[in-house]
Amino acid sequence: MPDRSFLAWPFFDDRHRALADRLDAWCADNLPVDHHDVDAACRTLVKKLGKDGWLRPTAIDPDDPSPLDVRTLCLTRETLARHDGLADFAFAMQGLGTGAISLFGTAEHQHWLTRTRAGEAIAAFALSEPRSGSDVANMDMAARREGDGYMLSGEKTWISNGGIADFYVTFARTGEAPGAKGISAFLVPADANGLQIAERLDVIAPHPLARLSFEDVRVPASAIIGKPGDGFRIAMSVLDVFRSTVGAAALGFARRALDESVKRATERQLFGAPMAELQMVQGHIADMALDVDAAALLVYRAAWTKDMGAPRVTREAAMAKLFATDRAQDVIDRAVQLHGGDGVRRGHIVESLYREIRALRIYEGASDVQKVIIARQTIA
Ligand SMILES: Cc1cc2nc3c(=O)[nH]c(=O)nc-3n(C[C@H](O)[C@H](O)[C@H](O)COP(=O)(O)OP(=O)(O)OC[C@H]3O[C@@H](n4cnc5c(N)ncnc54)[C@H](O)[C@@H]3O)c2cc1C
Repeated sequence: MPDRSFLAWPFFDDRHRALADRLDAWCADNLPVDHHDVDAACRTLVKKLGKDGWLRPTAIDPDDPSPLDVRTLCLTRETLARHDGLADFAFAMQGLGTGAISLFGTAEHQHWLTRTRAGEAIAAFALSEPRSGSDVANMDMAARREGDGYMLSGEKTWISNGGIADFYVTFARTGEAPGAKGISAFLVPADANGLQIAERLDVIAPHPLARLSFEDVRVPASAIIGKPGDGFRIAMSVLDVFRSTVGAAALGFARRALDESVKRATERQLFGAPMAELQMVQGHIADMALDVDAAALLVYRAAWTKDMGAPRVTREAAMAKLFATDRAQDVIDRAVQLHGGDGVRRGHIVESLYREIRALRIYEGASDVQKVIIARQTIA
């Protein structure tokens, strides 16, 4: 039984506690789904999560807008990740892919939110390019003004939901100024002429992922989200909300690894006694429990700070993401160790957690980039 004591922390309201309990019960009944075909699995997950109302917090309600509740996003990601990494992915991308629309979209853009919140449309966030992952401001993709619209040309890569998304929130250079100040955000439907899936990408914890090619993709001027030249600021505002949630997903993986390790240590007999009586095993368990609690404190501190109205939580979110993802990697590694041969057996839960956690230390700002952010904020 996972530790639930953190739910008593003052970061949460009773509605958060009730949500965590209801979602946990839902996950026990509905997850994991079959991962054999990841496209089909993600489509099923989005539909299921949408039908039962779990996707509503991923975006604002266009008919009754109120700010995104980051604690709900984090609790949901933590809970889903504890049960099934792909379910967490499906949930997270509905949020990341619509974040710019929730925060800066027009009523016309926000029509999509009714569908993504219901699980009837799939969203994607297309920022990274072959030459510019960490160095976002160095992007090449161009959007040139043509008549009453824009023409987009270039490439995006590592795009989650690439291949199954119904639309891509796409960042491109419009040239108002050099670097970060000359980028804009566009809402591009997946069926736009000239938009192709150039390559599907296979990674160690598979999910729909692709390189996209844009060849003279024409969009109307109304496809622009926010103001021309504001794209970098929009992308950073979206990451400011969702970065803490990556920490929350890592926390869910780590909590599952700890639970599995406690079960193993109490059930397995070694040298005539339960493994849990070996002091070095206890040392691992203590380190894991400490990392899990410390990560939870940082994740929910960042989420609570944002929900209390802080305009930006760049420092808090960077700390939460860096610590929770790095420590989860270590917690899961210890879980693999405590499981012996079973820990590296394909299909075992700790083996899949070992693969699931790795990319979280790279995407939405690699760990090294989070350190740069924390150092800059601290020195300033
Ligand atoms: C599974 C997965 C899913 C993804 N999904 C999406 C998505 O949906 N949408 C999207 O737009 N992108 C997505 N990405 C892309 C992701 O955001 C980039 O991979 C990431 O930003 C790193 O960029 P890069 O791969 O180009 O590596 P690089 O930018 O080349 O960086 C390589 C390494 O250099 C180091 N480094 C970088 N900058 C610094 C620095 N300032 N100081 C010190 N060290 C540094 C880090 O160790 C980093 O890992 C995804 C990536 C993965 C792996």
